[in-house]
Amino acid sequence: MKQLEQKILDEGIVLGENVLKVDSFLNHQVDPQLMHSIGQTFAKLFEAEGITKVLTLESSGIAPAVMAALLLQVPLIFARKRKSLTLKDDLYTEKIYSFTKQEESEVTVSRKFLNAEDRVLIIDDFLANGDAALGLACIAEQAGAVVAGIGIVIEKAFQPGRDVLIQQGYRVHSLARVASLSGGKVAFVAEPVAQASSND
Ligand code: 5GP
Repeated sequence: MKQLEQKILDEGIVLGENVLKVDSFLNHQVDPQLMHSIGQTFAKLFEAEGITKVLTLESSGIAPAVMAALLLQVPLIFARKRKSLTLKDDLYTEKIYSFTKQEESEVTVSRKFLNAEDRVLIIDDFLANGDAALGLACIAEQAGAVVAGIGIVIEKAFQPGRDVLIQQGYRVHSLARVASLSGGKVAFVAEPVAQASSND
């Protein structure tokens, strides 16, 4: 998605060799027009999948995910991160290791919002090692739902997340694929990924 790549080039800040900061349009301040375009692209990519729910992780996944849900005309569920829980009976729970915070947190979704009839589209802001997307897929599968696809706004293609998800049989689409952050510069994977199927 060219518009997103340009935004990353214009406003992204590289931290070390591994982390891209995009808090001017996605992770803190949010660009609603760009989120709308992102939602349209995800909706088009997954329109044939019979999606019934969009699932993301609070808080940075919510902006792109709500736009995808709006365009697909289905509800958005955001999994909540909680440190300790007293009552778990009515919750699906999964431990997810956070790439940026470098700590594990328990992530929960209420049982009343996901069930075995659902076909779930998972959306997240970044893909690095795949832990967040896999954890969300686990939650959907605890409900007996089908994970019909995974949509990622920014994939760091030099990290193993995509391979991990593809090996598990998931359909993955990323709107921007970063090949490298070396030397403080963002370089993208050359192929036009938004139109291509990740599995071919
Ligand atoms: P993974 O679970 O795939 O290792 O990492 C993805 C999660 O970590 C995303 O939910 C995202 O919040 C965070 N993350 C991973 N890499 C980056 C990055 O380079 N920049 C930002 N802002 N978040 C990242």
